[in-house]
Amino acid sequence: MKSRFKSRKITENLTRIIGATGECMYLAVGNERALLVDTGTGIGDLKGFVGTLTDKPLTVAMTHGHVDHVQGVSQFGEYYLNQKDLFLLDSNSDMQIRINYARLMAVPARNPNLAYIESDGFQPKADPEKSRDIPDGTVFNLGGYTTEFHALPGHTPGSMAVLFPEDRILLTGDACCGTTLLYFEYCPSIEEYKEALTALRAMLSGKFDRILVSHGGHVFTEELLDSVLECCDEIMAGTDEAFPMRGPDGTENPCAHSMDFIHGRLDGKPGNIVYSRNRIFR
Ligand SMILES: [Zn+2]
Ligand SMILES: [Zn+2]
Repeated sequence: MKSRFKSRKITENLTRIIGATGECMYLAVGNERALLVDTGTGIGDLKGFVGTLTDKPLTVAMTHGHVDHVQGVSQFGEYYLNQKDLFLLDSNSDMQIRINYARLMAVPARNPNLAYIESDGFQPKADPEKSRDIPDGTVFNLGGYTTEFHALPGHTPGSMAVLFPEDRILLTGDACCGTTLLYFEYCPSIEEYKEALTALRAMLSGKFDRILVSHGGHVFTEELLDSVLECCDEIMAGTDEAFPMRGPDGTENPCAHSMDFIHGRLDGKPGNIVYSRNRIFR
């Protein structure tokens, strides 16, 4: 399948790359090195596209191990992934899962070709042997520009948020966003997620003005973290709307507040959580 990557400069040093299913990757370029955060679904020639944006030596690091973030990595050799997400690579490398995800995204990504994608439309699967751990607090100095990886377990056990301190930007990826999915069987409880998000927020307080996510081009403020933390409190108190939401795998789970995928939350607040009733408290 033809490459459909698009890019948009966020700042002088930071560029958003949008892949075939609408997934967002981020390219940070310093004076000496570049760092690619996430590699998308593996549809198209991402390495070739990145080569049109920078010729600096490239490091590749992941926000987490899901199919739409890590499966373009086989073009790049060694890569960083928090080892708590290593278990996801196996299941998320399954070709039928990759095909199903891409086909499901044909309508929301406005990419009708995806509805007919077959296995030959994908790069080879991610090789776990080439992954290196990226512990909490890892800093990459790119030469006059830095990136800091901070653990934010919830959406997956190894999910990381990325701070770009010089630009005062925080990337929360899928780990805290307009539809934070916390219902998978491997997700920690809402109580534990709230503790992790509260700790991250306290540690990074005053260090960022804008928040970027991995799906959709909306730029958020700290209000995103406030509203997701508020959802945690409401879920634990049983005062959320528990709006039924059917996931891509066909299962129905409660969503803290009613929403649709075009407008987001109907009350206008930015953050939301889809959760499992079995995992509210630790
Ligand atoms: Zn994800
Ligand atoms: Zn995702």
